Amino acid sequence: MFEKLEHLGIAVKNIEQSDALFKLLLGNTHYKVEGVESEGVKTAFYDGGNVKIELLEATNENSPIHKFIEKRGEGLHHIAFEVDNIHQRMEELRQQGFRLLNEQPKDGADNKLICFIHPKDTNGILIELCQDKNKINSTEEE
Ligand code: ZN
Repeated sequence: MFEKLEHLGIAVKNIEQSDALFKLLLGNTHYKVEGVESEGVKTAFYDGGNVKIELLEATNENSPIHKFIEKRGEGLHHIAFEVDNIHQRMEELRQQGFRLLNEQPKDGADNKLICFIHPKDTNGILIELCQDKNKINSTEEE
């Protein structure tokens, strides 16, 4: 159903401050920093070996990351699985009774289309589906 674990999303207060820690743990610094304005987040990606590590920092008080940190503190925010056809996977999940947080896939960081499954339906884990926009073939869009 899912292709593979693609990345782990970790909510932090400040990416530049957390960079020292992740540099120490992973032996490399972030290879990409990218803002997703619509979500009120700044992201930084690290090479974690088998999976990427995505740090998420809120850029405003309405950001879901700001709310998450207020409520639960810094820490693991979501796990993301790569899928080969996000529209189809979303439809399958709906048919299986999962609630999705997004009606339609939306633009995420790292050139991806993403959507989230409601954590109440997945043992409290926020699961992101992501599909690389470069891997969308034109027939799927029609
Ligand atoms: Zn993510």
